[in-house]
Amino acid sequence: MTIKMRRLIVVVPIASILLLADFLALGEWLDRAGLIGWAQTIGTRHITGTAITVIAALLILLPSTPGSVRRTCVPTARCPVCDEDLRPGGRYCPACGSRIADRNS
Ligand SMILES: [Zn+2]
Repeated sequence: MTIKMRRLIVVVPIASILLLADFLALGEWLDRAGLIGWAQTIGTRHITGTAITVIAALLILLPSTPGSVRRTCVPTARCPVCDEDLRPGGRYCPACGSRIADRNS
């Protein structure tokens, strides 16, 4: 058990108890600010059963992105000589042929 887990075991119950103890005050504050009434209005007008069904169907039907697409977000290394994109794991620049220093060290 790491020190992080021990801290979580202590902090989470204390924070939960403090939050639960002040739940009514939090609710009253949200009501005074008008957020509860606003949320009820939005909920009854716009978040109907049909809307929830359509959103759930879209989430189920949307294809998940394959790993190769996600990897494109990772910034690629560039050649220090000609600023060309480098292939992952490659030791030489494909454009100018200069040797690339080990990027993992
Ligand atoms: Zn190059």
